[in-house]
Amino acid sequence: MPFGHDMVHSLATVVELVNTSPATGGDEGLPGLAELQAFVESREVSGIGKLTARDLAQVRAVREAFHRVFTAPDQPTAVHTLNSLLSSTRITPRLTEHDGHPLHVHYFAADSSLAEHLAADCGVALALLLVEGEGERLRTCSAPDCDHVFVDESRNRSRVYCDSRTCGNRMHVAAYRARRRA
Ligand SMILES: [Zn+2]
Ligand SMILES: [Zn+2]
Repeated sequence: MPFGHDMVHSLATVVELVNTSPATGGDEGLPGLAELQAFVESREVSGIGKLTARDLAQVRAVREAFHRVFTAPDQPTAVHTLNSLLSSTRITPRLTEHDGHPLHVHYFAADSSLAEHLAADCGVALALLLVEGEGERLRTCSAPDCDHVFVDESRNRSRVYCDSRTCGNRMHVAAYRARRRA
């Protein structure tokens, strides 16, 4: 996929955000402000001031909307869900060059809250993916006990597990054992 660095970065951010949701299996990955702050730092979300309980609630709401986009049963549902998120988000396209990256567009408004920043940049990245006809790359892990989401960036769109080092390996080992037993 010939996407710019911010597009790739935003897609990785939205995957990481959605996978903190208890709806993807496991515990709440953003139980408090400390975890939210750690997320902001690890994903290098810029221009974010002191976080509050309001930020946490807003980010969790945006996260669930993004989860619905990943798990939409068909494209019209994904489009509808994404459009309702985008329509409630201030989006201010701005050309920028930073950290040695070539000229590209940022979408979040300068004074955005964390939730708005994520909704704008991740929302536009997902919108562009759908526009490119690549919506089927938005996947949920096929391992039976894992509902993590991922973006399949493989050339032939063949990836079925969220992370080849954990779920993929685990399932390959299980398949190998099943073959040996057969
Ligand atoms: Zn950038
Ligand atoms: Zn998985």
